Amino acid sequence: MKDDFFDQIDQWSISVWSKNPWLKSLESGSDRAVFNIDQLYDQWLEFILKNHGITTGPFSKFAEQKKIFGLVKHLNPYYFRSDEVRKVIDQTSTLPPKQKESLTAQITGFFRLMGKTSMNPVVLENLETLEEWWELFEEKEEWSGMNWLQKQDFRVPASKGGFFAWNRFHRGALPGISEHPRKWVELCAESEGPSEAWKWDLKASIFAGEWAHAELPGVCGPFPLCEQCRLAQNCKWPSQQNGLNEQDTIETLVQKNRWDALKTEELTEWLLEDEDFQQNMTKLEGEAEFRLKSIDESKLLEWDHLQPGSKTPLRFKVLLELCRRFHEEPMNLGVQFSSSRDIYHHFQTRLGNLKQERFIIVILDNKHRFLSETTVTVGLLNRSLVHPREVFAEAIEQRAAAIICIHNHPSGDSSPSEEDKRITRRLQESGELLGIPLLDHVIISKEDFTSFADEGWL
Ligand code: SF4
Repeated sequence: MKDDFFDQIDQWSISVWSKNPWLKSLESGSDRAVFNIDQLYDQWLEFILKNHGITTGPFSKFAEQKKIFGLVKHLNPYYFRSDEVRKVIDQTSTLPPKQKESLTAQITGFFRLMGKTSMNPVVLENLETLEEWWELFEEKEEWSGMNWLQKQDFRVPASKGGFFAWNRFHRGALPGISEHPRKWVELCAESEGPSEAWKWDLKASIFAGEWAHAELPGVCGPFPLCEQCRLAQNCKWPSQQNGLNEQDTIETLVQKNRWDALKTEELTEWLLEDEDFQQNMTKLEGEAEFRLKSIDESKLLEWDHLQPGSKTPLRFKVLLELCRRFHEEPMNLGVQFSSSRDIYHHFQTRLGNLKQERFIIVILDNKHRFLSETTVTVGLLNRSLVHPREVFAEAIEQRAAAIICIHNHPSGDSSPSEEDKRITRRLQESGELLGIPLLDHVIISKEDFTSFADEGWL
């Protein structure tokens, strides 16, 4: 049976494929290029030497290592002596002994594997043989090994982004930084076997935004677009409860747009600790055209593509949030609310531009002064999600005397829906029973707001 995640991205891919017919031919698997063995060896050497920080240009102190390229061309993968390889590597006195050993092991290990698989890529793509392949790499380097294989046209799952998306969907959290690619290879092969695993990897990598270079920005990339995602109902990442997870890092919370869980001082500290970001800011200062307001999701994705792996786009997102907070009218402990407009002024900059609905309650004391606020749910609102139990649990714990509910309408129209009215009635009744009255329900949109109290509906 196909995993839920793959099943849904399979459905999702139909619309992407129909807009980009060339993807269909990619999925059907064009003929595999015939491997040029000499080229493959050269690529492998270049790859591992680079990983060891070794350059072989004429002026490099490692220039002697160039000989290794000539040597491997004469090696027979079915029978060769590792001491021949070691002899060439030993000629470079600048390399520490440990590095010499590791280089020798990687070169000879590669040859043995090529010999063992009779140069048949299909054999190497099996999980059993991949286990031996991973042994050629240091811990945490296995993903780069998978990438290398994919670049050489081996059909193996190598999309870290796809694996991230799967983790968001199933676990509601990102994998640990050292999680091995084995799990991803197994998942992709689960329903149709190893020979078809790469197709699932392909779909997941497009879904994860790794094809932005081909103008396929995906949905679940570095800035997940949960509000546009067909998987949102079943995905654990933006979980309906309130999407927070104890292990969430600052970066994860920023990706989830959980600004309510991030203090201004935390964000500022995180922003300033990054040298790349400071340099990028200095560069931008000289650009007459640069406007903070011009930064949106597509701009962030563009930057992410230009500097893969850089945290600068995510830090810009935080900078925008700090600017927004600068304009927000703060709501301090003990502040008294005199009208729905006070609520609107406080929440408008935070909720007015959101593309996803968010339901918040403000908890008040017996003089209707602010005690705290809490997010009840994120995502499409319905009665089962805005349950009185969730709404009043925090209020009871804080011995509240009254509450106010606030939520946003991303459509731009602040008029209440029938479901909004039903939710409000239910909360009003529960509040009366509990002795914690619902004073108002304010619906906020980009330009205006509607107050149930002002309209006389409460
Ligand atoms: S709902 Fe969000 S996190 Fe989950 S798969 Fe979709 S874009 Fe990714």
